[in-house]
Amino acid sequence: MFDTIVIGMGPAGLEAGIYLKRYGLNALVIGKDLGALALAKEIENYYALGKMSGKDLAVKGLKEATSLGVLINHQEVISIDYLDNGFSVKTTNNQYETKTVLLATGKSRNSFSLAKPYEGKGISYCATCDGFFYKNKKIGIVGYNNYMLHELNYLKPLTNDITIFTNGNELEVEVDNKVIKDKIVALNGEDKLESVTVGNEIIKLDGLFIALGSQNAFTLAKHLGLMLNKEDLVVDNNYMTNIPGIFAAGDVIGGMLQVVKAASDGARAAEAINKYLRGLK
Ligand SMILES: Cc1cc2nc3c(=O)[nH]c(=O)nc-3n(C[C@H](O)[C@H](O)[C@H](O)COP(=O)(O)OP(=O)(O)OC[C@H]3O[C@@H](n4cnc5c(N)ncnc54)[C@H](O)[C@@H]3O)c2cc1C
Repeated sequence: MFDTIVIGMGPAGLEAGIYLKRYGLNALVIGKDLGALALAKEIENYYALGKMSGKDLAVKGLKEATSLGVLINHQEVISIDYLDNGFSVKTTNNQYETKTVLLATGKSRNSFSLAKPYEGKGISYCATCDGFFYKNKKIGIVGYNNYMLHELNYLKPLTNDITIFTNGNELEVEVDNKVIKDKIVALNGEDKLESVTVGNEIIKLDGLFIALGSQNAFTLAKHLGLMLNKEDLVVDNNYMTNIPGIFAAGDVIGGMLQVVKAASDGARAAEAINKYLRGLK
């Protein structure tokens, strides 16, 4: 079992990884890509850096953390679940157990804004939490990749009537369910979700699960019961969320969306995790 699993290999996640290593903790950093920095053409406001492309800075950070002995896995996290003594973190090809989790997943965006009015009224972000309520019902899943497949596999034993809506994306995994590739243009229903509109077609549904793109802070928060302020994770002064053992740092907690703040958050969250774990022992 790891002491900590850090999700994210941007400035917050890697800086945390470096400090966790210095504290002698058994930590693993998991990241699926270079995060926001990969999109930044030029960074010139970071201490003593001069000018550098965001991508070069991200790669430099990754090399530096690796050379300092930080254990980094390039994978996508598709779920986090509770264990009696910690958490289970599932990626597309592995499963790990850990005492604590640090979410450094970058700016969270709810990629399916149509869902908002029906949250808790037929819309769900978590198959394991809400699947049971849709036993033998007609449901849909919005998604196209491993993350969707993870939710589908959980829901399959509960009902035979599951339609996959890729919402304009190419399907990246094999499924034997009905697949609709066109974009969903509307969700309909008075007090709760009753149907979705795709092109000119109206498809009746009892529930719709959102598993679009990859797990982000927003969907993880819905799944784990973490407190959100709009789309930012809420943490205390020790970078801990409302769930003991789950910490968050960097853009994911909002505030100044800058490298310097993300790196500082990462270091301070590592310090807080070290104190938390030592308190537990
Ligand atoms: C276009 C642009 C220009 C910018 N310019 C500047 C600038 O000039 N100066 C400045 O200081 N800042 C700038 N920024 C902001 C800066 O890039 C961010 O503040 C910083 O990268 C945040 O770091 P972070 O570690 O919190 O998140 P990110 O760097 O976004 O890293 C998030 C990490 O989480 C990982 N992740 C997310 N979900 C999962 C999952 N399910 N499984 C596994 N891994 C996951 C991602 O792969 C990534 O590794 C810019 C950002 C953009 C988009």
